[in-house]
Amino acid sequence: MYQELQPLFDETSIQGKVKELADRISRDYAGTEIVIICVLKAAALFSADLARLLGIPSRIVFVSASSYGNSAVSTGEVVIKNDIEVDISGKHVLIVDTIADSGRTLAVLADHYGKRGPKTLKTAVLLNKQARRTVDVRLDYVGFEVPDLFIVGYGLDYAETYRNLPYLAVIKTG
Ligand code: 5GP
Ligand code: MG
Repeated sequence: MYQELQPLFDETSIQGKVKELADRISRDYAGTEIVIICVLKAAALFSADLARLLGIPSRIVFVSASSYGNSAVSTGEVVIKNDIEVDISGKHVLIVDTIADSGRTLAVLADHYGKRGPKTLKTAVLLNKQARRTVDVRLDYVGFEVPDLFIVGYGLDYAETYRNLPYLAVIKTG
């Protein structure tokens, strides 16, 4: 454990929650297949764990999304890079991110992919920081509600570090 980190959810709790979400998703989409759109970089770990626990056929594709602006408030525009190359028209699509904060990233991606004629389009996040929501976005699958704190680990970074931690933590301030 890093001295500067305050544990939030340990590995066992995270894996238990991911299993719970995977079971719900597998039930909801039983008899069909889905395309998982993993929002890089943060969702790389969550998507991989989630996909491994699904009981339905799934494809996994990747898109990079980043928000610009000052680091304290995510006011900036969302920039989409390395867009997916599969045709999602007529497909069941699930956009997977690790955290919803302002909601802008998922709102922009839902709008972007919604225009490509998917049969259904849903969103899944492990963490929901509801206190910071500024745009209206529908979250279909939510793991944990989290307070308005800066979280790292399990894909989430602080200046590109801590993404590899198997647990979630808050950086201690003061
Ligand atoms: P949005 O504001 O668009 O919902 O979230 C934008 C992005 O900000 C997220 O995908 C995530 O990369 C980052 N983000 C939001 N809250 C946190 C947090 O508590 N910790 C970290 N490391 N990143 C966050
Ligand atoms: Mg980041």
